[in-house]
Amino acid sequence: MIDIRRRNYLWLNLVSTGSALLIALLLLLGYHWFSQRDDLRNNLTMQANLLGANLTAAIVFEDDRTAADIIGTLNSSPIILEAAVYRLDGSLLASFQRPRAPPKLADRGSPYGHVFSSNELLLSVPVQMDGQIVGSIALRAWLDDLYRDLRRIFGSMLVILAVSAAFGTYASRQMRLKMAATEYEIERMALYDRVTGLSNRHAFELGLTQTLQRHGRDGGGSALLFIDVDDFKKVNDLFGHQVGDAVLKTVGERLGKALRGADILARIGGDEFAVILTNTSTPNDAAYVADNLVRIAAEPFDTGSALAHIGFSIGICMIPKDGANIENALRNADLAMYHAKKSGKNTRQFFSESIGETTRRGLDIEAGLRLALTNEQLYVVYQPQRAVRSGRIEGLEALVRWRHPEWGIIAPAEFIPVAEETSLIQDIGRKVLNYVCRDIAELRDSGYLVPPVAVNVSALQVTQGKIGDDIRAALEEYRLKPDSIKIELTESVFIGHLESHTRILQDLRSAGIDIAIDDFGTGYSSLAYLHHLPVSILKIDMRFIRDLPDDAEALALVKGLIAMGHAVDLLLIAEGVESAAQAECLEQAGCDFLQGYHVGLPLLKQEIVKLLQTD
Ligand code: C2E
Ligand code: CA
Ligand code: CA
Repeated sequence: MIDIRRRNYLWLNLVSTGSALLIALLLLLGYHWFSQRDDLRNNLTMQANLLGANLTAAIVFEDDRTAADIIGTLNSSPIILEAAVYRLDGSLLASFQRPRAPPKLADRGSPYGHVFSSNELLLSVPVQMDGQIVGSIALRAWLDDLYRDLRRIFGSMLVILAVSAAFGTYASRQMRLKMAATEYEIERMALYDRVTGLSNRHAFELGLTQTLQRHGRDGGGSALLFIDVDDFKKVNDLFGHQVGDAVLKTVGERLGKALRGADILARIGGDEFAVILTNTSTPNDAAYVADNLVRIAAEPFDTGSALAHIGFSIGICMIPKDGANIENALRNADLAMYHAKKSGKNTRQFFSESIGETTRRGLDIEAGLRLALTNEQLYVVYQPQRAVRSGRIEGLEALVRWRHPEWGIIAPAEFIPVAEETSLIQDIGRKVLNYVCRDIAELRDSGYLVPPVAVNVSALQVTQGKIGDDIRAALEEYRLKPDSIKIELTESVFIGHLESHTRILQDLRSAGIDIAIDDFGTGYSSLAYLHHLPVSILKIDMRFIRDLPDDAEALALVKGLIAMGHAVDLLLIAEGVESAAQAECLEQAGCDFLQGYHVGLPLLKQEIVKLLQTD
């Protein structure tokens, strides 16, 4: 379509330029013709006048021989065909004539002036003496020379025109070829990925649009796969970008080999690939291919110096069922991929409405949390912990709260996991520590005796190794002693990092900060290894407390936990104590501290003072 239009346009261009040149050439020739004719007439008039001056005497004296001699000199002027000298009465005195030119000049003199015929010029001038006309001269000249001249000019101009047209055509052809090559290159660059030689995101979206349109007509379906390379950043960091690019290229090749010719494969981002399994309308078929892709990623990549290990997290969206337009299809495949990543990488995940919602909610929460940190939407509440022996509040647990301007209060159970996934937990943890220390200092300065406040710490905060610095900084800022706070962690903190994390926590413990194991009984719950950890408190998870005191099994378990904990020198706190019966049962079992709605709700700083003693 474009080509035909372009060719037509070229022809039009050529024809219009050609005719413009031709018109210019004709005008030029016309101008040349008329100016040459004028020159000729002027020349001849001058010549006739000169002859006339010489002929006056001959005319006056009727000397026809001299007159014939004088006009005979015109023989040397080849364009003159004929010449005649007339007396005043118009009768011929003498004449000159080329041998082969048939005579045309009349016997009688013609009126003064000139006449051009198609190939001749006829000219007649008076011969004067002292201002008196004594006779006349007529000349007849041919225009062949002018025509020859004109032909010559026309010929050479045509040659010039032809040469320049040829050159112009050649140049424009070259230009066109160059333009086409550039256009092709631009198109190629616009559609292909330089690193892998695969289609790029733009080309992929075109392919996806066509696939969706086709299914709109034929009622069929395809599977859209979003593939994110797991741990690609590590490969880049470890081996450098060149190796990273080589790995991406190999990934592209492996994917290409594993797919059918009709499938569409593209690299759509840094370490993201996308595939359309065309005419694959059943999830089973899509799952089969996706599982195969996960398998081929597991094979290590030879980087030359070492083997790189990666994996694929694949999100699958069945189109048009789960994505009828390009935006939805891409977004849903992306959401499914995100979910595959979250569920442990190296796996595939189908899009479903629930995934869409949780992931979207997660993304909203993440964005909201970033603002919450800067806009001071987070605050802390304190839940009392009662010591069984004294019956007094001897501890508080700090629990973070988020008040969103539109969504209202959001439970930590919803946003803490998101914060942990996105590393925002670091900032939140630091903020909470800061609020807690600030509140302790304020209450202390107002004369209250503030028991140690337990701060919840996520595994990630320990992994990053900054928890010690953060705690020290917060304590220092508010001039608090280390035993003003304690920390609560779950057993998972130690999984996989037993040595390094033990060292970090040992430092805190040595500084006088108590460490409690939270939710004890829900995880690995090995009392044996707890003995070797820098831990001094166990919090029995509320699941076990819930069934007290009637459930004999739960009671036996709690009693056992308390006994074993005491055996390895740990203090025990029961959390989630909601009733007096539960509290009594736990007191009898020897539990050291009680925490729960029965003891007290989590309260704001200004409310908690009612439970504190003054000094
Ligand atoms: P957790 O550390 O186990 O905190 C105890 C949770 O149980 C709190 O929920 C508390 O309000 C609730 N609770 C207290 N007494 C009772 C009771 O008698 N019955 C029942 N059913 N529940 C009771 P909350 O505040 O919603 O916190 C939930 C979880 O969020 C916490 O569990 C903790 O893992 C996490 N979290 C809270 N604040 C922070 C924080 O500042 N940092 C970190 N990393 N995690 C936090
Ligand atoms: Ca806790
Ligand atoms: Ca807990």
